[in-house]
Amino acid sequence: MALVVQKFGGTSVGSIERIKNVAKRVIKEYEKGNQVIVTVSAMAGETNRLIALAKEITDLPDERELDVLVSTGEQVSVALLAITLIKMGYKAKSYLGHQIKILTDSAFTKARIINIETDKIKRDLDNGYIIVVAGFQGVDEYGNITTLGRGGSDTTGVALAAAFKADVCDIYTDVDGIYTTDPRIYNKARKLKKISYDEMLELASLGSKVLQIRSVELAKKYKVPVHVRSSFSDEPGTIVCEEDSDMEKVVVSGVSCNKDEARITLVRVPDKPGVAAKLFGAISAGNIVVDMIIQNSSIDGTTDLTFTVPKSDLKKTLNLVKAISDEIGAKDVLYDEGIAKVSIVGLGMRSHSGVAAKMFEVLGNAGINILMISTSEIKISCAIDEKYTELAVRLLHDAFELDKENVEG
Ligand code: ADP
Ligand code: ASP
Ligand code: MG
Repeated sequence: MALVVQKFGGTSVGSIERIKNVAKRVIKEYEKGNQVIVTVSAMAGETNRLIALAKEITDLPDERELDVLVSTGEQVSVALLAITLIKMGYKAKSYLGHQIKILTDSAFTKARIINIETDKIKRDLDNGYIIVVAGFQGVDEYGNITTLGRGGSDTTGVALAAAFKADVCDIYTDVDGIYTTDPRIYNKARKLKKISYDEMLELASLGSKVLQIRSVELAKKYKVPVHVRSSFSDEPGTIVCEEDSDMEKVVVSGVSCNKDEARITLVRVPDKPGVAAKLFGAISAGNIVVDMIIQNSSIDGTTDLTFTVPKSDLKKTLNLVKAISDEIGAKDVLYDEGIAKVSIVGLGMRSHSGVAAKMFEVLGNAGINILMISTSEIKISCAIDEKYTELAVRLLHDAFELDKENVEG
């Protein structure tokens, strides 16, 4: 008997009809003789709707209260799924994060899971129950409700699989696997049979929201095999797993893009030790993740400092930065929300040269100006004008021939 964790995303539970479809998939797994823990997201559009309600009141809603609000989306969908399973003749129980409990830190709206209690659920499983767990939510040590960041139900799924030592974590979504790029952006995108944890980590952190980045971090840490597949078909999807020698041969395995970042520039910052530490220390204390950073060489003892943060954190960051910019003597603070980041990712980049040059050439030939560049061992990212995002993705996909299998460069 295996223990299987299944996660269904918002589109998969977007209506009662779809919840019935999910119930059938759960039952199919259960009827194989397996123990099943299911986690679900809020019904499609619900989390956005709840956030918009709070934003009607204020641009910066209190984050503790925002978590109390948005976690209700998953409360609805777990109850509806459990009601459906029971109606279909099966023993099922829904649980919220705090009932289990899924213990997190207190970083509201982007909490991290610290521990998942397993005793109660194990007893239920042994008694033949199908367990339905609310995705995206947890509870901190003080009893406050927390949420895990947008897309956080993926992380609930993988964390449950790790805690219960599940044989597999199936992530059911509205595409039938992980593609070389978002198939909604380019119809020549190709479905991958498998992808390494490290490549998926890069793709996820660079904007491929098919999996939340923390879910991939956890899967890698606890060696949980993740199967991303469609909730609407029986086709095998994509396995996210440890790398093998075949994967190393592929120079570029995916292209991703992200329109969710904004650029902030501190103009004419005095060029002296401790300035960057003060600025980025304050930003990180506000739990804001800075991505690309550029500091120009200094002229007349001052320099421009440019960096990107998630658009959702722009207001909060500007408030922090404006306070500090006076203190450190910067001339001005500018920001730009009209940027996007396009990236190429591949394990084979470790051993191939000329990949960055080719990327810059493709963008340059199309007249797309590169605003910022960042690289790691297995990725190259360029910030560009947002209006060229889709064009850049398609051109890079073509240039690196990602529609063909196993390209060696
Ligand atoms: P869910 O609600 O099931 O969690 P998401 O919307 O979070 O679904 O993730 C699935 C979406 O991810 C797809 O509809 C697709 O548009 C997008 N996506 C982005 N990059 C990729 C990729 N490389 N491969 C597959 N899907 C991708
Ligand atoms: N409902 C949450 C969101 O929309 C979590 C998730 O879907 O994974 O971000
Ligand atoms: Mg998702």
